[in-house]
Amino acid sequence: MTPPIATGRQRQSDVHHRRVRTQPRQRVRALPLAVVEQAALSDRGLRRANNEDSFLVGTRLFAVADGVGGNSAGEVASRLAVDALAAGAEGAHEPADLRRLANSAATAVHDGQAKPDQAGMATTLTAALVSADGLAIAHAGDSRMYRLRAGTMERLTEDHSFVGQLVRSGRISAAEAERHPLRSVITRALGRDPDVDYATTLADASAGDVFLICSDGLTGMIGEDDMAAILERSGSLPEAALRLVRAANEAGGRDNVTVVLFRVGIAS
Ligand code: MG
Repeated sequence: MTPPIATGRQRQSDVHHRRVRTQPRQRVRALPLAVVEQAALSDRGLRRANNEDSFLVGTRLFAVADGVGGNSAGEVASRLAVDALAAGAEGAHEPADLRRLANSAATAVHDGQAKPDQAGMATTLTAALVSADGLAIAHAGDSRMYRLRAGTMERLTEDHSFVGQLVRSGRISAAEAERHPLRSVITRALGRDPDVDYATTLADASAGDVFLICSDGLTGMIGEDDMAAILERSGSLPEAALRLVRAANEAGGRDNVTVVLFRVGIAS
């Protein structure tokens, strides 16, 4: 389902909640960044009956939500989350604004559980706001965010998942995690509680950087090297989005797959 405003998971400790610096003692005045190109695509994949992913593409605010729950409630959960973000997108400029919106998204999903057919629904949320200080990120679950800079792709989020914890503690390898029977069990999500322990961070952003937010329907099907190669070889972000989704489906399409891409440049 395509959301209203062209609507459609950084690196944090699982234990520590990093606070986004909102009032630096001395702000280095850099040239303002703007989003100069964007693209998004969400696909049901080849095995699932519904698409329970949702996404948001605004002028400065971007997000991917991957819902879970029976009777299409996962679709409702992810939609409630991105709609709550979209409702405040215009007034969002600072990292604190993103935190406020992410909290309102958590409340919306939690409150939605009052309906019997939506009880137990949940969703991941990975949201990013282009601010004057860099890229503010709020993240819960196993959707991911990456930055592609000068041909090198860096992951900006840590999976809040059972296998993610096993990898971080050294008990299994990243490759083993990809085949683990419990790989879809997430340890943080919107829905269970009115408050969500988001991982928040401020990522550096420079002109020319491309950012990717995606659901696990992409990262569970193709490797990061393949993702980086597709991004590097595509002539535009819409082409890259199409090729990423196609690659996930060609690899089996076991899950809904959603990609949000944006490139930053100097504001004119
Ligand atoms: Mg998924």
